[in-house]
Amino acid sequence: MAVRTVRRYGDPILRQKARPVAEVTPEIKAAIADLVETMHDQIGIGLAAPQVGIPLRLVVMDDGKGDVRTLVNPVVTEREGSIRGEEGCLSIPGIFAEVERSSRVRVEALDADGQGVSFEARGLPARVIQHEIDHLDGVLFIDRLPPVQRDRIKRKIQKEGLREDSSRHAFAL
Ligand code: ZN
Repeated sequence: MAVRTVRRYGDPILRQKARPVAEVTPEIKAAIADLVETMHDQIGIGLAAPQVGIPLRLVVMDDGKGDVRTLVNPVVTEREGSIRGEEGCLSIPGIFAEVERSSRVRVEALDADGQGVSFEARGLPARVIQHEIDHLDGVLFIDRLPPVQRDRIKRKIQKEGLREDSSRHAFAL
């Protein structure tokens, strides 16, 4: 296992559509272990494989109590409601904004053993899942902001670069 470098805004891999995982092989399990280790090292609560340079549809999440969920090829099959909430991203450190997401989602995926899982999520876990699946499609949370706000953030990044905000780091995905 190894902590991998988190790719940052501007890295082209964050804009690529990730490929489905054909089978949960030992190599995939090793990649999952790296994702979990990197997420914990960065004190994140979710991480998608493209964020560490792996162009595959793999996501890990932490419920904040140390329970990790692995999602291989996750798909949202149902969504309901709409709710705004603050998000940050390990790939865009120091930037936080309110993003509108579905309030409830049903997700189908494979787990770390390649077994099919289907579950419902609400609240923060639902937000994390939607944020991470966006990463698999090359979408970043700032893309979901109103254009005026997004342009303001892009100008800020251009002018000041990306800076850590350690006091709020724990909420990054
Ligand atoms: Zn993110």
